[in-house]
Amino acid sequence: MSWQSPHLLRRIHGIYREYDRHILSFQMATGIRCPDGCGVCCQSQDVEATVLECLPLANEIFNQGKEEATLSAIDKRMERGDLNCVLYIPHRDLPEYGRCAFYDYRPLVCRLFGFAVRRNKFGQKELCLCKVAKKTEPAKSTAAETDADLTHVPDFHEAFMKISSLSPEIGTPLIPINTAIKQSLEYLYWKRPRRRKMRRAA
Ligand code: SF4
Repeated sequence: MSWQSPHLLRRIHGIYREYDRHILSFQMATGIRCPDGCGVCCQSQDVEATVLECLPLANEIFNQGKEEATLSAIDKRMERGDLNCVLYIPHRDLPEYGRCAFYDYRPLVCRLFGFAVRRNKFGQKELCLCKVAKKTEPAKSTAAETDADLTHVPDFHEAFMKISSLSPEIGTPLIPINTAIKQSLEYLYWKRPRRRKMRRAA
């Protein structure tokens, strides 16, 4: 399926909404939530995503006319070897706090981080909570981790495959987050010649 299909972005959003609901019910069942304003997971240098899961994000960046600024900021980060996500806005005074500039459009990995199960090397499901949740909610975290029934917890692999199957070519390779955002912008950029021409003429 091409991204041009009017259904593709809607289908990705539909899957995101489905998992948002799933994550919310997991949070309500366990009492584990992200502390307000926490930005620790976005500060990781290891966030990886696919181009496909970043398309809603890229589409919104285009809608807000911020594609040139975002591409330029990514290039500058790449030049200095900074792998931090370009969309993360750190709090001015509190080092562990910050926010995503496009939170509602963030990719799948950012939604599921800390609220999903992964398979270990034996193929068994393991709950992956974030270190902040473990520190701020130790009792709830231990209870969630020792719960034998993990069927109600979002499964990262299943969610990934659901999105990936919409367009495996751009939905399978996991690459550093800034590269994924850049390539998703380029992917849409070349498909939008009319808008480019209009901007150039302006
Ligand atoms: S896309 Fe947003 S939520 Fe994901 S790592 Fe970047 S700033 Fe954080």
